[in-house]
Amino acid sequence: MIEVTNLQKSFGDLHVLKKIDFNVKPGEVVAVIGPSGSGKSTMLRSLVNLEQVSGGSIRIGGEAFVSDGKYVSAAEIKRITTRMGMVFQHFNLFPHLTVNENLELAPKVVKKESKAALKPRIADLLAKVGLSDKGDVYPANLSGGQKQRVAIARALMMNPEILLFDEPTSALDPELTGEVLRVIRKLADENMTMVIVTHEMNFARDVADRVIFMDQGEIAEEGTPEQIFGNPKLERTKAFLTRSE
Ligand code: ATP
Ligand code: MG
Repeated sequence: MIEVTNLQKSFGDLHVLKKIDFNVKPGEVVAVIGPSGSGKSTMLRSLVNLEQVSGGSIRIGGEAFVSDGKYVSAAEIKRITTRMGMVFQHFNLFPHLTVNENLELAPKVVKKESKAALKPRIADLLAKVGLSDKGDVYPANLSGGQKQRVAIARALMMNPEILLFDEPTSALDPELTGEVLRVIRKLADENMTMVIVTHEMNFARDVADRVIFMDQGEIAEEGTPEQIFGNPKLERTKAFLTRSE
């Protein structure tokens, strides 16, 4: 579903991603962990073309939008990357739009879908994230956990084949993380393909099929949650996990 080969990214002299290789299979849930500054967000943002890479290839469902550092046309990039939805740490909801309007926006603009046609999908998705009564509310009147659940519903409006999460709970008070993690858990149970950058080690252990440990711009170690959390090979993985406890 996702095939990343030899991905490289520099910001000026700073080599942030060094030869990243990984694959995600359909229905797989991959958790990405690692220290601050290791390149997790940059890697995720590259997948949806929010960052332009300096080299390597990214293939989504067999279609490359960048091969050996060369990008296809803007229209093709858009078509391929909209197969993925992304959820950010800080929700990124539009404050001047109600929940319903936030959900309608991308399908209306990108897919030219009518408001009437979107109504049942909005109702379904708000029910799925437990916010059926919040359609007419503005983001300012929601809790952080509710905002993040709206952001997940909004990403699902485009019917993505893959969902990417960048620390979806790290801006939340501890008592609000559970409600967001439960929604992600439910999506995993429905076989949604997901890549989740997270600091929630217990959640990664519980929900992920595979865990990738990133350090200093490379994938230092990857394996099943049992391997990574139970029996990490590298000293730096052990050290990171000890610090994260
Ligand atoms: P965190 O856990 O703190 O979110 P991260 O693993 O997501 O960290 P990135 O945000 O991907 O790390 O950043 C990796 C490196 O790239 C860092 O050294 C960061 O300072 C640098 N970096 C990220 N974005 C930019 C940018 N736009 N310009 C210059 N440097 C950047
Ligand atoms: Mg980050």
